[in-house]
Amino acid sequence: MVRAGLLVLPLIALAPAIAPADETSATDKLRILYSSRLTFTDGGLPLVTVQIMGRQRRVELRARGGVVVRPDGAGGSAIEADGGEAWTITAEEARPAEIRDWTVVETLAAGDAAGIAAALARWKARGLEPRAFELGTVFGTGGEVIDTREVQIAIDPVPAGEGAARAAEHARRFGVPAQVHEELVRRPTGTIVARSGGTTIRNAGVLWFAPRRPSETITVADVPTNTGGSQLVTGVEDRRYWGAVYVALDRDGSLVAANAVPEDKLLAGIVPAEMYPEAPAEALAAQAIAARTELLQKIGRRNLADPFLLCSTQQCQVYAGAGKEDPRTTRAIEQTRGIVLLRDGGGLVDARYSASCGGHGEDNDALWGGAPDPSLRGRPDAPAGGPARVTDANVGAFLDSGGDAWCARGPMDRMAKAHFRWTERVPADELTARVGAQYPGIGRVMALVPRQRGASGRVGALAIQGERGAATVRGDLPIRRLLGGLRSTLFEVRRDGDAFVFRGAGFGHGVGMCQLGAMGMAGAGKTHAQILAHYYRGTHLHRLY
Ligand SMILES: [Zn+2]
Repeated sequence: MVRAGLLVLPLIALAPAIAPADETSATDKLRILYSSRLTFTDGGLPLVTVQIMGRQRRVELRARGGVVVRPDGAGGSAIEADGGEAWTITAEEARPAEIRDWTVVETLAAGDAAGIAAALARWKARGLEPRAFELGTVFGTGGEVIDTREVQIAIDPVPAGEGAARAAEHARRFGVPAQVHEELVRRPTGTIVARSGGTTIRNAGVLWFAPRRPSETITVADVPTNTGGSQLVTGVEDRRYWGAVYVALDRDGSLVAANAVPEDKLLAGIVPAEMYPEAPAEALAAQAIAARTELLQKIGRRNLADPFLLCSTQQCQVYAGAGKEDPRTTRAIEQTRGIVLLRDGGGLVDARYSASCGGHGEDNDALWGGAPDPSLRGRPDAPAGGPARVTDANVGAFLDSGGDAWCARGPMDRMAKAHFRWTERVPADELTARVGAQYPGIGRVMALVPRQRGASGRVGALAIQGERGAATVRGDLPIRRLLGGLRSTLFEVRRDGDAFVFRGAGFGHGVGMCQLGAMGMAGAGKTHAQILAHYYRGTHLHRLY
């Protein structure tokens, strides 16, 4: 609530009619930030909340022409400080959230009431106390109801941060993929305090900021530039944002800044980071539709314990705000406004994509476990076809071939070729040190044996034989990281003197659309509809809004 008594005189003179928000409505507004409900702009576009940065002791922001502060978000009362271009935001009396980590053991369709009841009974019979959590969201637009909901059956809650280790134990014991569900037991509480000049505004839990002039952006100071997987922050920069910025309490009681941004502005900031803006227009259109579909598919599926829908790290979608747009990608987003990929049987496609499949796409279940997705099957990525599966027996011949693959002949020629086929030499000493850090005691690495190749030949498990022991590393990213950042797990490996030599294909996981392949197809005159139909089978385009 706004404590009007703390507002200084010039502010009251500017905004005389500040009605103190009652406690219930403030709580409701806060609850919406944590819910998976999608709201829409007056223009009919989804309004998406994206994390800017978390774990901050203070947030500084400004806008040319001034900032309007709205304690309760759009529609609430507005406060304009006298000459208030710059604001400093801190938290007072903050208490952290209470979060519990559950191990997910099964995932079912939300409508499968009988299946959910049976799953709960099954895990209860094992002496556990399972719970069902609903994920995803449902919204109606353009005569179509989009329902992405599913139910996770989860067991054995532990305090936040301990879930990954516990999930790994259960994964070994029950043969399920290790997956954690975060349950928000209690939101963080505290007061957000914004100061500008002599003006101070306080509100419980959240404060909203918008530029006074709608054509301006809000600049947030000192946003960490390294938002990737590493904990290491390499630098900070000021970043600009369209729409509104709000500051709320992070889970540890510090501050989180987030951007409530219309879908088109968000996509315009995301797509240039995902595909070269110089790519052919039809490839950019395919990318825009895939990115829009994936964006909607992610709503309500992650960040369930956070006051925003999407985080902005590489695990989510890279989003660095305004000013990263390119006219060509922005045009592709406008031209495909509201268009998404639907399964022929209904529902949004899980529109995954990666840079280069290397000439053969991969199955979703080979990469991430779970049920096989009929629209994410790994197939040859070449007009003339190719082997149905890449195996230990034919991987050598596959790596020798493939010159006609779509991703081998993109217009971005040199880049496409560098990702299509590659060779990496890793000294045995270096590999021994890397392996030793994760698997102490196995000694000098003597041999590497690829196992569990998926449809594209990507390695699902890598057996490591050391002088004094052995280990097996599983999963696409863990294998690539252990080997020093290989482009993909589609490789064969041989010993050559004091080094291991990896000969491989592709860049990324290879599931869904191959982005360099999409450019190759567009360069050969294919339309975005043909490109998407090639990479996502059993799907069609549909305009949602
Ligand atoms: Zn490809």
